[in-house]
Amino acid sequence: DVALKGEFDNSYEILVEDGVMDNLIPDLCSRKFGRTPVVICDENTRELFGLSLIEKLALENIDPLLLTVPAGEKSKSLDVFGSLLEAMLEAGITRQDVVVALGGGVVGDLSGYVAGSYMRGINFIQVPTTLLSQVDSAVGGKVAVNISGGKNYCGMFYQPKRVYSDISALSTLPEREILSGLGEVVKYGFIADRKFAEYLLDNADKILSLDKEVMSAVVARCCEIKADVVSRDEKEGGLRRILNYGHTVGHAIETFSGYKLSHGECVAHGMRIVARACNRAGMLSDSDLKLHQNVMDRLSLATGGLNIRPADIMELMKRDKKVKDGSVVMVALDKVGHAVISDDFPLEIIEAELNEMY
Ligand code: NAD
Ligand code: ZN
Repeated sequence: DVALKGEFDNSYEILVEDGVMDNLIPDLCSRKFGRTPVVICDENTRELFGLSLIEKLALENIDPLLLTVPAGEKSKSLDVFGSLLEAMLEAGITRQDVVVALGGGVVGDLSGYVAGSYMRGINFIQVPTTLLSQVDSAVGGKVAVNISGGKNYCGMFYQPKRVYSDISALSTLPEREILSGLGEVVKYGFIADRKFAEYLLDNADKILSLDKEVMSAVVARCCEIKADVVSRDEKEGGLRRILNYGHTVGHAIETFSGYKLSHGECVAHGMRIVARACNRAGMLSDSDLKLHQNVMDRLSLATGGLNIRPADIMELMKRDKKVKDGSVVMVALDKVGHAVISDDFPLEIIEAELNEMY
């Protein structure tokens, strides 16, 4: 079975645990992933985690190359990508070495692309330190930088050898980053696992206070769901598209806000709108819509108002290539826990919902 073989060739472990970052030390010392570690951080993760990692490795006589990029999306650029490759070459990094991405999705996407490109590809491990990167960007093998024409337009599929998701890293995250990640967390429940959606509802307080046990379970379940969807559709044939639930409307809101709102926040608003539209279209029952709303309310997701003009959002959506003849190709829900791709969801239903809500 060719598909299965591909899956196993690329298989890797995702470790989710409180304190799992400490496992990096023995693993890097054993050199099982490569000789010299090239640790890539941004300014924040350098101070929070990078410098102490380097110190601990120094005690073991390992002398990594530490590279730091400015924090924020602007580092996902061809310029920064190029300068990292140059710095690695200058330091004498070879194909026997290993890139360690230590940071959020920006560092992960950028470092993965660096690892995939340097000398046609060297080993790569991910240490995601934001909730969004732990539940989303570190799983699935998409790595990229942005070009002026579009976000993530220059990249590849490149799988890490291992992912270390340390729950304790989340404790320093600003609330806004937590909420952004939670937007993606609830998405997994809505599209694929009703029990998980109910678990999120029942444990909302512990989630919001970042209870380590609950958050470990949450992150692990999100990784399982994403890995399951992705492994059945590694290069985005069909199934993987359900991961875009809430994203078509969400992207329009994100663009409209001039990227002032976080991605997860926009997706959260997108999911609220789409769930209501699915209910209006007769696909999603009233009680399931209520469950959807309760989960979002209890986790404080997209609870505030949104300063948008429905007509502008519709205009932005219509520019999308997924729109044709008054309908849109969109991820819809027919149950909480089950997503379907609708090839012709009526735009007027979304518009009616937007007009009612905003
Ligand atoms: P980010 O990497 O910019 O991190 C957000 C901020 O948090 C940064 O300022 C960072 O320095 C800081 N930070 C990181 N860890 C911290 C910690 N533990 N404590 C305190 N501060 C910390 O953003 P993100 O939200 O993690 O990732 C967004 C990126 O992920 C986008 O570029 C997006 O395109 C990408 N993404 C990729 C995929 C994929 O499949 N590859 C999926 C979703 C998103
Ligand atoms: Zn997203």
